[in-house]
Amino acid sequence: MLGHSHATSGAFAWSVAAATLPISALTYPVLTTADVHLGPVDLLLGAFLTAGAALLPDADHPNGTISHVLGPVSHYLCRFISWISGGHRHATHSFAFVIAVGYGTWAGEHWLGRYFTLSLVFFLLALAVRALHICPSGDGVEAWGTVVILAAAGTFAMDHWITDKPVWLPFSVGLGALAHLAGDCLTDRGCRLFWPFPLRTCVPIIDRTGNKVETWVLSPLFTLGTLAVLWHVFTTSP
Ligand SMILES: [Zn+2]
Repeated sequence: MLGHSHATSGAFAWSVAAATLPISALTYPVLTTADVHLGPVDLLLGAFLTAGAALLPDADHPNGTISHVLGPVSHYLCRFISWISGGHRHATHSFAFVIAVGYGTWAGEHWLGRYFTLSLVFFLLALAVRALHICPSGDGVEAWGTVVILAAAGTFAMDHWITDKPVWLPFSVGLGALAHLAGDCLTDRGCRLFWPFPLRTCVPIIDRTGNKVETWVLSPLFTLGTLAVLWHVFTTSP
């Protein structure tokens, strides 16, 4: 699947989950009391951050969207992750990875605090900017320079709103990764969801990555769906 399909599917998954699931699920693994609820700002931030998190599994792809997001820094990091995880669509395309990024986010917030949260926000926003084509294409400095500027501006804006340890962030990151796996399972290569076991899961509905169905049908539907659900939540919340 293409980056923009993954990003829009992540935002859509977040908005549906935030509108339907109980607060105890959205704030897992933090035990919350009943008086915590997600405000409209959290919902909106979550949609952008989950869109970015839906790119994370492709950190094992040296030529994917995520690899070009921060220029040479992310490129060499992705080459390293690709090498250590066993190549494209192996370890990072599994339930184990979803659990790892969810708990990793929780642990980072818990032990490292605000600097971790803001760094993660910056990185996920950078991924969302890149995947949603809000910057020039290619892997030159004009592309990743724009990404850095926009993600930094977004992080400064969020700095006013976001708490030190947003209770919904681990769920958002895990859900984004999960949405990515669901999307890749629809392609003919499938995913090794139960890595390290070799079983490959695939329901090949999309012929090959980059086809017109994704660009002209799936992504617009996910975007409209996200806007519709958020609109519904905003207009009906007390
Ligand atoms: Zn993938």
